[in-house]
Amino acid sequence: MIKENIAAIREKMTQACLACGRDPKSVLLCAATKMNDAERVKEAVRGGVDCCGENRVQELTQKQPLGAYEGVPVHFIGHLQTNKVKQVVGKVDLIQSVDRPELLLCIEKEAAKQNVVQDILLEVNIGNEESKSGFTKEAVMDIAANMGNFPHCKLKGLMAIPPICTEENGNCKYFAEMYQIFVDITAKKYDNVDMVCLSMGMSDDFADAIAHGSTMVRVGTAIFGARNYNK
Ligand SMILES: *Cc1c(COP(=O)(O)O)cnc(C)c1O
Repeated sequence: MIKENIAAIREKMTQACLACGRDPKSVLLCAATKMNDAERVKEAVRGGVDCCGENRVQELTQKQPLGAYEGVPVHFIGHLQTNKVKQVVGKVDLIQSVDRPELLLCIEKEAAKQNVVQDILLEVNIGNEESKSGFTKEAVMDIAANMGNFPHCKLKGLMAIPPICTEENGNCKYFAEMYQIFVDITAKKYDNVDMVCLSMGMSDDFADAIAHGSTMVRVGTAIFGARNYNK
């Protein structure tokens, strides 16, 4: 099932790329693995996803020693509490969900302590939702300009989770705004910034995200099926 789902998603991703004249190789598929055990994650890796994204520190620390992500990079994509930063820095290839200044500072300190450089994305609260964390557009520009002050982090791009939307193509305006911020930061050629990743698009809207310049879609439900929160 998982393998077939991934093949179907890949096909849809390719079609979305071709429809807007993009190289299908320019968009990566990140499996959002929350609530799926190590065996199912391994199945997704065998099925050909480009990387895995884990939401919770506890799931990461459980599945990683079981070799769940072996063969692909693993990313952290969930809300990260500062007291758990040391369990994530140096353990994942990319922290996608850097959503507030104190978290960035904390990651910098821990990376310095470990003598590593941690790749990060800045999460943008593109819908300006009170229920969501993430930087405003202005704040994200400001942090990008000052990345030189965080030598043990490397800014690789941006991530967004737009508002929940029931309308067809409803998130396009947010994807377009994200793309513009991405282009603006890239053009500045700031120190310690290497804009290679624009992480946006999930199960229901990844084709729209690709049409608006996403370079990484994070897909859970369409790979693994609906999550059972009662388990
Ligand atoms: C769960 C999750 C996804 C995937 O969502 P689906 O709708 O299941 O594809 C993507 N990004 C983040 C940050 C998530 O937590």
